[in-house]
Amino acid sequence: MNVGNIYCVGRNYRLHALELGNEVPSSPMIFTKPTHALREMNGQALAIPQNRGEVHFELELVLRIGEDYTSGMLLEKAVDAFSLGLDLTLRDVQSQLKQKGHPWLAAKGFKGAATVGEWLPLTSAKELEQGEFKLMRNDALVQLGQPKDMIFSCDELIRFIDEHYGLGAGDLIYTGTPAGVAALHPADRLEAYWNDQKLGSCTIL
Ligand code: ZN
Repeated sequence: MNVGNIYCVGRNYRLHALELGNEVPSSPMIFTKPTHALREMNGQALAIPQNRGEVHFELELVLRIGEDYTSGMLLEKAVDAFSLGLDLTLRDVQSQLKQKGHPWLAAKGFKGAATVGEWLPLTSAKELEQGEFKLMRNDALVQLGQPKDMIFSCDELIRFIDEHYGLGAGDLIYTGTPAGVAALHPADRLEAYWNDQKLGSCTIL
């Protein structure tokens, strides 16, 4: 399936919003990335921007829309598969953009800014609510997330995005990152786990 739109959700976990000194939002904060940002997390090396300040990892649950959404459609019908992915962020650039009130594209839209691991078929919404995901960096746990802690649930995100922007087959939704984001370093080895299953890995160039 071709990838359509790449939607991302900012500040969807309370502790992450607070760790960056942001307010917890009262409605979903949606932004997009170009499809050219997308890379598979299949063990390969990943190039990130050089000399533009810190690049932070943000591991997120990623939903894949399997068919064009129609109002009232159940999550299990709209989402055909899920995975984990990194919403990579040039954090220093983002801070400058925020100060100026400029869009986030330069901080979050660069080539390689969206990685995604192996897809798992979605059988039930409960599966997402009851699962957890983690990011290991050089064998140390750096992020642990539970979708049940999302400020806006997967269901709410889908409905909101469709209502405001439209949602069709092939669209991806990065559902926000839990606390623990930090800067990447050359040769960092990243591994993403859903429960105890490894869905993706990469090494930073
Ligand atoms: Zn994010």
